[in-house]
Amino acid sequence: MTAIENNTVATVHYTGTLPENGKTFDSSIDRDPLTFLVGHKQMIPGFERELMGKSAGDKVEFTLSAEEAYGEHNPDAIQEVPLEMFGEITPEVGMTLMSDSGPFNVSEVGETTAIVDFNHALAGKSLTFNIEVIEVRSATEEEITHGHAHGPGGHHH
Ligand code: ZN
Repeated sequence: MTAIENNTVATVHYTGTLPENGKTFDSSIDRDPLTFLVGHKQMIPGFERELMGKSAGDKVEFTLSAEEAYGEHNPDAIQEVPLEMFGEITPEVGMTLMSDSGPFNVSEVGETTAIVDFNHALAGKSLTFNIEVIEVRSATEEEITHGHAHGPGGHHH
């Protein structure tokens, strides 16, 4: 049976919870499992490391530090920007918007400026994952060249 290593394509079901309060922040259980090419930085660093050597049918649970997950919360990634910057959009607290430098969250809206946060919503948090490995196969040459998985759950192009 194929085990997970670099240049394999893994399909897993996962549930991510916050160890601080047990809340689920993401889960594939009610949708299609996640398929990804291993060893090409598709996933957060600790996630792949914990799955190395596992094969179909294996169940794994692990907790990652913030550093191994979405990184520490960076105070410099919080910025105050003039409302004009939003153009036609009226910013509201809690909105996630896209900019040239990636997605950000609106954390405060004032009279003339808004406070926006470019940190990932899970930055600074330790994360627990429960994983069930569904399938592991060798990647094709084409997938390795492209740096992502093809086929069901992967890229279609
Ligand atoms: Zn491709």
